[in-house]
Amino acid sequence: AVAPVYYSSSSSADSPPITDDGRIINLDHGDPTMYEKFWKQTGDRTTVVISGWQSISYFSDPSNVCWFLEGALEREIIRLHEIVGNAVTDDRYIIVGTGSTQLFQAALYALSLPEGAEPVSVVSALPYYSFYLNVIDYMKSGLYKWAGDAESFNKEEPYIELITSPNNPDGFMRQPKVNRSMGMLIHDFAYYWPQYAPITRAADHDLMLFTISKSSGHAGVRIGWALVKDKEVAKKMTKFIELSSIGVSKDSQLRAAKILQAISDSTELAGDSEISKNFFEFSYNIMADRWKQLREAVKQSELFSLPEFPSAYCKFSNRSFRTQPAFAWLRCRGGIEDCNDFLQNHKILTRGGRHFGVSPEYVRVSMLAGDDNFHLFLNRLSMLWP
Ligand code: PMP
Repeated sequence: AVAPVYYSSSSSADSPPITDDGRIINLDHGDPTMYEKFWKQTGDRTTVVISGWQSISYFSDPSNVCWFLEGALEREIIRLHEIVGNAVTDDRYIIVGTGSTQLFQAALYALSLPEGAEPVSVVSALPYYSFYLNVIDYMKSGLYKWAGDAESFNKEEPYIELITSPNNPDGFMRQPKVNRSMGMLIHDFAYYWPQYAPITRAADHDLMLFTISKSSGHAGVRIGWALVKDKEVAKKMTKFIELSSIGVSKDSQLRAAKILQAISDSTELAGDSEISKNFFEFSYNIMADRWKQLREAVKQSELFSLPEFPSAYCKFSNRSFRTQPAFAWLRCRGGIEDCNDFLQNHKILTRGGRHFGVSPEYVRVSMLAGDDNFHLFLNRLSMLWP
């Protein structure tokens, strides 16, 4: 047996090590609670007060293609993308959704072929974000059907390819895989933010999805947005949201606007006494710290391996770094066939490779949990033996 190595967050170096009380550590979902500390110290600057007479109408701006989009949110989305430099917003329609999950469905609806045609094939390269498949299976739509791995799609027919970059679950930056002419692409940029990946260029695609869930960590506000080049596609996406929920909560949009504003302010005014911390510095440091500690624990256990990412220069933060994804794509070695089962026996809940279309040797582990759970996970991982 080896002496346990206790991991604790750098911000609490003086606090006593956490004792492992044998609890279940749930790292299955990517629930981003770790940014709570940042938001607590912003105090009233991120408090939103909405009076009884406000946000009453279904409409925000009837002249806008997305007639339920709040002007304040639209402004803050554009401002944040300009500051971060991760996406082009010029000549784009902005569509707001109840999370990017609703926008993903709206995009499938908008890109599908006219009624009467065969359902269009939807593909994504392995390992793919498991929820895409779950949603498509659940919907049983007559408009589209799941066709699996993009790499093996070889039909001469229209298709929709989902490109998640950085990818959930494995963290790699991605390009389209199907090289055919009849493709319609949906770029999911949930994680293309400077705490997770170097911002090397402003993404400039026809249909791009973003979400507040992973950028600020406010998954519970349920706000996502799409940047869409084509007016007809933008109109159809708006129609889908009208049919499914007659718009998107204004209260949530106003809260999201306030949060995005606070991020932009913290980035532009860092050093100001009022705005003590730059959000992306804070979140980058947490991710860097966690990845460093995870790699150490994995090395010590000799039972697992992790992907290696190339280093790239981030134009936003002016430094080079390796992607530090929101999920760790852990591979069990040493003859363990089902990594999920193995970890579950040690009361660590993850999501097994089969959900993402690949071998059960792999598991996806959330890197976004609260400090205690994350550090207990590291302690337990470093002490595991086959
Ligand atoms: N896309 C990807 C790749 C994700 O990982 C997630 C969240 N797990 C989403 C979209 C959905 O995010 P939202 O909370 O905005 O619906």
